[in-house]
Amino acid sequence: REYGDISLKDIDQVAKRSFPLCMRHLFDKLREDHHLKHGGRMQLGLFLKGVGLNLDDALAFWRAEFSKKVGLEKFEKQYAYSIRHNYGKEGKRTDYTPYSCLKIISSTPGTGDHHGCPYRHFSEENLRAALGKMGVNSRSMEDVIDKVRNRHYQLACTLTFEALHGMPCDAGINHPNQYFSDSKKILDS
Ligand code: SF4
Repeated sequence: REYGDISLKDIDQVAKRSFPLCMRHLFDKLREDHHLKHGGRMQLGLFLKGVGLNLDDALAFWRAEFSKKVGLEKFEKQYAYSIRHNYGKEGKRTDYTPYSCLKIISSTPGTGDHHGCPYRHFSEENLRAALGKMGVNSRSMEDVIDKVRNRHYQLACTLTFEALHGMPCDAGINHPNQYFSDSKKILDS
């Protein structure tokens, strides 16, 4: 097993501590709405695969939420396939790779979508609220917002990481899974 594997029983705690804002937002929305549209399912689903959630746990995770909204039968019929697909168990058996920051930043979420990069796609008001909820203090918040205004979204994410971990992140953030593993390294040490 790779460093940073997560299991279902502590996924909520791990999400709070070590998910970057893009994934934290999708995770919270899924818990809240028991649903995510396709773009969100892909972005979060591949990230979760990347952090080491195995296929059985992934199916259980999505099933628990989606069945509250669409029912168990519809989940199995309509959604379980694409989760197995992400793990390379269906279709062409391609092993899909988690999305990088560049890919996420350049995506174009529409109405009702929750994927994308919050630094790029949220209004300033919503971004401030989300950062506050994460625990970013008001001084760091201004530095983050300043980067966002200059369209340095990954630098904004890096500053958020540094504010929340009290440690420099010299390499900068370029991948959500890197944010996760760097966070785990600091918090578990
Ligand atoms: Fe996610 Fe990357 Fe945006 Fe950070 S910069 S929120 S890791 S897409």
